Amino acid sequence: MGRITSPSFITELPLRVTPKHESTILIRFEFARQLYNACLGEGLRRLALMRQSKAYQSARLIPKDDDHKDERKRAFDEVRKTHQFRDYDLQAYAATIKIGWIGSQVVQTVATRAFRAVSQYAYGKRGKPRFKGRGQFDSIEGKQKAVVQWDGKALRWGGLILPAIFPKEGRKGNDVIEYGLNARLKFVRLVRRKLNGKTRFYIQLVCEGTPFQKPKNKVGCGLVGLDIGPSTIAIAAPTHRQAELRQFCNELRKDQRKVRVEQRKLDRQRRANNPQNYNENGTVKNGAKKWIKSRNYNDTKRRLSETHRKLAAHRESLHGQLVNHVFSLGNQVNLEKLSYRTFQKMFGKSVGMRAPGMFVSMLRRKAVTAGVSVTEFPTRTTKLSQVCLCGQVKKKSLSDRWHVCDCGVVAQRDLFSAFLAACVESERLNADFARDFWQSGMDACLRVALSEAKPAIGGDFPATFGLNRSRSGSPVEVWMKTGDGRGVVASVSQRREPDKACPSSRTPPVSPAPQGCALHRGAERAVGISQH
Ligand SMILES: [Zn+2]
Repeated sequence: MGRITSPSFITELPLRVTPKHESTILIRFEFARQLYNACLGEGLRRLALMRQSKAYQSARLIPKDDDHKDERKRAFDEVRKTHQFRDYDLQAYAATIKIGWIGSQVVQTVATRAFRAVSQYAYGKRGKPRFKGRGQFDSIEGKQKAVVQWDGKALRWGGLILPAIFPKEGRKGNDVIEYGLNARLKFVRLVRRKLNGKTRFYIQLVCEGTPFQKPKNKVGCGLVGLDIGPSTIAIAAPTHRQAELRQFCNELRKDQRKVRVEQRKLDRQRRANNPQNYNENGTVKNGAKKWIKSRNYNDTKRRLSETHRKLAAHRESLHGQLVNHVFSLGNQVNLEKLSYRTFQKMFGKSVGMRAPGMFVSMLRRKAVTAGVSVTEFPTRTTKLSQVCLCGQVKKKSLSDRWHVCDCGVVAQRDLFSAFLAACVESERLNADFARDFWQSGMDACLRVALSEAKPAIGGDFPATFGLNRSRSGSPVEVWMKTGDGRGVVASVSQRREPDKACPSSRTPPVSPAPQGCALHRGAERAVGISQH
């Protein structure tokens, strides 16, 4: 069926659009929107009718096992045919609708889009698709050699000629564009975006093949294990004796703060403009209301949507950098299969901002083109957060940030499970493998990783690192217990700003640990040593 199967990538260029062209495009986008809504409504109507039919009900009763697979499929195909619930049928329906001109192939792609939305809903993959409101339809696409065309310099769409803006000579990213322009073109898409209140148009060239690989993003060789928490990521590459623990996309906190400030401002303005719509306790009154929107309110709203857009762009770039970094460490990446939805339910806002699920899908996507194998194994069979190298299984609570076992293995929990993840083979932990790595230096490597972990911008370590004194399983006792003389830190306290009243806190910390030890250096920088 319609879905593109061969690999493809997108090259995007901004378009030069005159005000006159802009109004023409917007009128056509409006036609496309109405057509989409019509197709969506018809698709939903046909779906409902189909589901009520006796033939559909009896098709559902056919068992799903291998013996009846073909029979079941045939029955459903037949029902879809009689109720005209197929991509082709909806395209035929779209062709009968008389609206303004957008080109017959664009009509087909719009119908296909509506059909996909309905069928994903029908299969339970998505929620019920919504009708698009005015100004909510942002892209149209053509088919191969269709009315929407790319002639190498400009986009052509039924009399409109929109020249593309090429990046200047010698600018960064030119090689990416050039690579895209030389690839075989599948079809083009015209996209509208609102940037800071202004409308901009872009052409997306959907090309065949794999996207451009920048020479600096070389793929490494070996095993990599990842442990992704709601706000942290631990990476372990035992092949190269490397590990690190970082906060996931912490750079976004600043953008997030800005969003919050603007959201509050928007709320204040809305309340100030519409006091009649609120109860005395500040809640919104029931029933139909009229909302007055001031010019300042609209300005704030525009600014907020721009901030949201920037946050998303920033996040995407951070995710991309992190993916490239992971690939630079090795070409076999293992991680637990997690439900990031559950994450979001449990941890809320922080997860929403960092979007670990998006990171993982980017990891999967980029792996295909980079030639990296990404394996997601089920938590149930491996139980990495509970097992030890010696085979012991002990349940930890979420607040236990340290793995401490009777056999002498001590490690920060996230780093340890990232390390174990690297040693998972066909959905089982290869314990012998892990033990070999552990004894040949991974142990020390994880300690270094923890000591080099950077505190948050605010100055404190997140509780999940397990470095704060008040938390259970404090590393101090653990390091003392292991008693190997390395990194004996007298007391680990939260990082404090230098206290002006107390001169002793400004003197450099003294520690018995040997100079040049990475662990010691990290610990000194990060946690500071109490002198009292
Ligand atoms: Zn053990």
